[in-house]
Amino acid sequence: MRVLLVGSGGREHALAMMLARSPLLEALIVAPGNPGTARYGRNVAVAVDDVAGLVELALGEGVDLVIPGPEAPLVAGLADACAAAGLACAGPSRAAAALEGSKAFTKSVADAAGIPTARYEHFTDAEAASEFVRRRGAPIVVKADGLAAGKGVVVAESVEEALAAIDMMMRAGGLGASGAEVVIEECLTGREVSLFALCDGLDAVLVGAAQDHKRIGEGDTGPNTGGMGALCPPAGFDRAAQEAAVDVFVRPALAEMVRRGTPFRGVLFVGLMLTEQGPKLIEYNVRFGDPEAQVLLPRLTSDLLAAFAAMSEGRLSEVEFSFADIASVGVVIAGRGYPGAPAKGGVIEGIARAEAIDGVQVFQAATKQVGDVLVGDGGRVLTVCAQRPDLRAARDAAYTAVAEITWADGVFRRDIALKALDAA
Ligand code: ATP
Repeated sequence: MRVLLVGSGGREHALAMMLARSPLLEALIVAPGNPGTARYGRNVAVAVDDVAGLVELALGEGVDLVIPGPEAPLVAGLADACAAAGLACAGPSRAAAALEGSKAFTKSVADAAGIPTARYEHFTDAEAASEFVRRRGAPIVVKADGLAAGKGVVVAESVEEALAAIDMMMRAGGLGASGAEVVIEECLTGREVSLFALCDGLDAVLVGAAQDHKRIGEGDTGPNTGGMGALCPPAGFDRAAQEAAVDVFVRPALAEMVRRGTPFRGVLFVGLMLTEQGPKLIEYNVRFGDPEAQVLLPRLTSDLLAAFAAMSEGRLSEVEFSFADIASVGVVIAGRGYPGAPAKGGVIEGIARAEAIDGVQVFQAATKQVGDVLVGDGGRVLTVCAQRPDLRAARDAAYTAVAEITWADGVFRRDIALKALDAA
């Protein structure tokens, strides 16, 4: 098969590595890719949200399957444009991508499908929203309906904070159209985990579950980032619990999407809070997480390309899908200054030494090849991953590999997976 993989992060480097293992793969084209994906395929400079450009590239290259990594091309309608051009796509239509694009849509699907989630109300009017908050009290969660790059959710400790969030989103237009409507919901407490499944419309298979580390600072301090590290499996959420969660949070949602005439085909990312009353849905995303993909994908023991092809054609039950029950830890190394303005241009060395360690991968994101040297070129630059039979050994191996890398501008958290080990 000839494949077009869309994206340029560590997630796409991990996807490219796994796709390259498939005996079905004839050619891999990556748009726009990075120096890591270039090891497995040919990078072509088309942006992830340039839907017309991506379709033109796929048609010109005689591609059999388009695999979107991030959400941007899906929300921009890549799967629909592929369908119109007769191209297979391993991702959801724009209508089905509303599971990530609209919080109110997600909540209505959860309600209709009987999926456990925080109690909520949906508001289009700021005064009604403010009145609801005054009546309910705090803590309470205010969420902009649309995508807001992680800035659209305010977990308010006080009524004043919640009212300020409503003012910012609905009255001042601080998040543009994304904040014109809000969902206000009950504040849940517990540990957060992310569950991943491949979905073909009706059927789903479990890929695994992971925990990320969103804050820049050790001890979960400082500003939010795209993710500074991840681990799998989360403590207290073993394979049996994950399979049970697919039955509760994935299959009923798929059936509801079919009922609405917008079947979901693609990777479903289920954000869950493990509360005292059991797991509850926080959000859906319509693609793999980054860095969750980097820790989950190397555990797969079956052909990922065969599974993606089957997913796009609604015949997931016909292919084998399996993974090893092992632990995996990934540590992100970012450019100093991230998530503000990261340092760029510093030389990165030692990747080959790190990768020489058994069961270790170094996935690249914002790197740039300049002649013979690799330099940092943005925020999140590397994800150093290791798989081992247990979490402690995986964590030790990941940090041993990190120590092999020399990059004066690189910063990373030293506490990835520590809390999970304490909880185990
Ligand atoms: P992201 O930053 O991943 O894009 P998002 O903007 O799509 O997230 P959510 O994932 O819905 O928004 O919420 C972001 C974070 O806010 C969650 O990861 C969780 O920590 C917190 N959160 C969301 N809903 C609740 C809730 N009902 N109770 C407590 N915390 C919540």
